[in-house]
Amino acid sequence: MTSVLEPATEEVMAELPEVGEAETDAAVERARRAFPSWRAVSPGDRSTLLHGLADALAEHVEELARLEARNAGKPIGDARGEMQMVVETFRYYAGAPERLLGKTIPVEGGVDMTFREPLGVVGLIVPWNFPLVIAAWKVAPALAAGNTLVLKPAELTPLSALELERLALEAGLPKGVLNVVAGSGRVCGQRLVEHPHVAKVAFTGSTAVGRGIAAAAAGTIKRVTLELGGKSANVVFADADLEQAAASAPIAVFGNAGQDCCARSRILVERSVFDRFLFHMEETVHALRVGDPLDEETTMGPLISAAQREAVRSYVPEDAPVAIRGSAPEGPGFWFPPVVLAPVANGDRAAREEIFGPVACVIPFEDEADAVAVANDTVYGLSGSVWTRDGARALRVARAIDAGVVSINSNTSVRVTTPFGGFKQSGVGRELGPDALHAYTEEKNVYYATEPGSGPAAALPSESAAP
Ligand code: NAP
Ligand code: MG
Repeated sequence: MTSVLEPATEEVMAELPEVGEAETDAAVERARRAFPSWRAVSPGDRSTLLHGLADALAEHVEELARLEARNAGKPIGDARGEMQMVVETFRYYAGAPERLLGKTIPVEGGVDMTFREPLGVVGLIVPWNFPLVIAAWKVAPALAAGNTLVLKPAELTPLSALELERLALEAGLPKGVLNVVAGSGRVCGQRLVEHPHVAKVAFTGSTAVGRGIAAAAAGTIKRVTLELGGKSANVVFADADLEQAAASAPIAVFGNAGQDCCARSRILVERSVFDRFLFHMEETVHALRVGDPLDEETTMGPLISAAQREAVRSYVPEDAPVAIRGSAPEGPGFWFPPVVLAPVANGDRAAREEIFGPVACVIPFEDEADAVAVANDTVYGLSGSVWTRDGARALRVARAIDAGVVSINSNTSVRVTTPFGGFKQSGVGRELGPDALHAYTEEKNVYYATEPGSGPAAALPSESAAP
C-alpha cells in the first residue's frame, strides 16, 4: 500500500494499493478495447454524456473541493474555485463533439474534405499543484474528440482523479473510456510514454521530466503536449496604478503557496518607484493568512511535502536579501512563510530557477527596453503581466514578451475559453480554448473524385512523381 498524506498535518489521508507496469498496461488495454465503440458514439450522444459528467461534478463540488484542499494543502476557497473551473471545462468541451468541423477545399476533378479523427488511446500525466483542474483541461477535450484515455495523477495527490473516474462511470460513460492509474511517474508515467498503444501523451509538470518525456516519446513517434515550468515576469512601470499592482503582485506569487507554474515570481519594477512599490506590497504580504486549508479565512496553505520545503528553503539562505517576510504556523505541516527578496539581480539563482514556493524576487529596471530584455532573459516563457496606464506601451510590451499568456493590468493567466501554454522551455502546444481539441485529433484529408479521369493524378506525368 502507499500512503497519501495531508500536507497541513502530515497525517495519512488514505492508503492506496500499489500499482505498477502491469496495472498501467491493463488500463491501456481497457482503453484500447473501449475506443472503437466510444469513437462511434454519435456526436450528440457524446455531448450528452459529457454534460452528464459535468452535472455529476457540479453536484459534488463541495466534497471534491474539501478533498483537494486537504490532499494538496490549498485554501478551501481556492479549491472551490478550481472545482468550478473543472465543471466549466467539462461543460465547455461537452459542446465540442458537434462542432468538430472540417473544411471543404476546391480541387480539380473532385471534392476534397477534411475530418478531425480521434487519436485512439491518450495518456495524460498531471502534477500535484492543481490536480483535478489540470486533469480536466486534458480529459474533457480528449473525450470530446472521441479518444479514450489513461490518466496518471501525481502520486502525492491521486484522490480527486479517482473520484473523477468514479463519477464518470456513475454518469454513464462506458467502462474503459476513462481510466485512472494512481501510481508513480517513474514507473506508470514512463510506461504510458513508451507504450506502443498510446498515441499521445499530454503532460503537465516540470521542465526536467518534460524533457525526458519528449525524448522517450520519440521511440514511438508519439504526439506530445508539454505544459512545463515558468519564471514569469510581472512588469510594473512607474505610470501604473502602483497600489493596485502592488496589492495584486503578492498573490500572483504566493497563490497556491507559490506552487503555480504561472507564478509571476520575477517582479520587475521601474527604478524610480521601486521603494514605493515595495512599501505598498508589504501590507498585502502581511495580510496573507497562512494556515489550515479548511479554514475559510486562509489565503495560503502549506507546501506539498517536506522535500518541496527543503528545495524552497535553499533559495532563502542566511544572507538572502529578505525585504519582507510573512509568518507561517509551526509544524506539524510543511509550512513556509511568504518571502520577498529585493533588490535581486536577474542573474541571481533565485531569479533564474523556478522555485515553486512562496518566494518572490523584485528586480529593478531602467526603461522599457531594459524591462523587455530582463523579462525575456530566462529559458522559460509561460505567462507574464504588464502594468502601465500607457495603452500603446502596454500592447508593445505584451507583444515583446516571449510568453504564451500575458495580461495587462491584471495577473490572470487562465480561462477555459482562451489558449494556454508556453513559449521556449515552458512547453509545446496549447490547452484550453477551442483549438485544444485539435491537439487530440489527427486531421484527415479525403479526396472524392467526381469527374473520373480528370483528377490531379491525370495531370501529372505519373503517380510516383508526386511526393
Ligand atoms: P513533475 O515532477 O514533473 O511531475 C509531474 C507528473 O509527471 C507527475 O504525475 C509525476 O508522477 C510524473 N512523472 C515523474 N517522472 C516521470 C517520468 N519519468 N515519466 C512520466 N511521468 C513522470 O512535476 P511536479 O513536481 O508534480 O509539479 C511541479 C512542476 O509542474 C513545476 O515545474 C511546474 O511549473 C509544473 N507545472 C506546469 C504547469 C503548466 O501548465 N505549464 C502547470 C502546473 C505545474 P509522480 O509525481 O507520481 O512521480
Ligand atoms: Mg515531482
